[in-house]
Amino acid sequence: MRLGNLSGRAVIIAGGGAVDVHHASGGRFGPHLPGIYRQWPEFSMWASTASLNDPASFDEKDLEAPSPLPRQVFAVGLNYRDHAAESGQPVPENLTVFTKFASSFTGPHGVVAVPKSGNTDWEVELVIIVGAGGRDIPASNAWDHVAGLTVGQDLSERIMQQMGSVPQFSLAKSFAGFSPTGPWLVTPNELSTPDDLEIGALLNGSVVQLSRTSELIFPVSEIIAGLSKVVQLYPGDVIFTGTPAGVGFGLKPPVFLRPGDELESYIEGIGRMKHAFVGESSRR
Ligand code: ZN
Repeated sequence: MRLGNLSGRAVIIAGGGAVDVHHASGGRFGPHLPGIYRQWPEFSMWASTASLNDPASFDEKDLEAPSPLPRQVFAVGLNYRDHAAESGQPVPENLTVFTKFASSFTGPHGVVAVPKSGNTDWEVELVIIVGAGGRDIPASNAWDHVAGLTVGQDLSERIMQQMGSVPQFSLAKSFAGFSPTGPWLVTPNELSTPDDLEIGALLNGSVVQLSRTSELIFPVSEIIAGLSKVVQLYPGDVIFTGTPAGVGFGLKPPVFLRPGDELESYIEGIGRMKHAFVGESSRR
């Protein structure tokens, strides 16, 4: 199943269009996404047999974040060996976790303003959306707690990120629009190899990042297990899993996002996002 957020309403993408969940379920589920995650087991059971008639055509620009109001947002740092190397950091032995504040969420298409005095960088990432929550989830059961996967960008302002004696990851990665996700959630059963998907990013049409999610140091199952050893995971929680090599600060010379740039982010079997960058003063 592909579950989207179309202008704030839950839709299943099927038959070349979008089927409104609230209407199709006779009011049992939806209309908004957060409630669907709280009812995830019942919802996915219903969706597996529902007759999804009359899909309506839609404009992908009207898609919003597939989990727009998570109780928690996690992001894993340095989770690909080649990205740890380009960051001049050793390969981590433990999960390195920070947050992206939810006010930085945006959808899979649109415009993002780059802060004037910053170095704004890209990080394409596989993003997990939690279905059934829990604590102390063993890695062997972790996929049962995944509602689905989506594409994310962990946009990052590098000057603030490294400022001060302790890196400011969470704030520097939470400017308006710095956490796009989408285009929709894809349930793991739709993917023949959910742990091995091509992931990439293109800046103005040129490939800057290209890897596979099988290169993750801590794969999806270990991230769920590691986080839930400490915190309760809740339905709809969003987990950015880390970025492969090819971010702007790792290039020689470094390259950062400027007004007029266009960034595409994709994961095989899930979909593609496209964002245009503007100056701070032209923020909508
Ligand atoms: Zn990241």
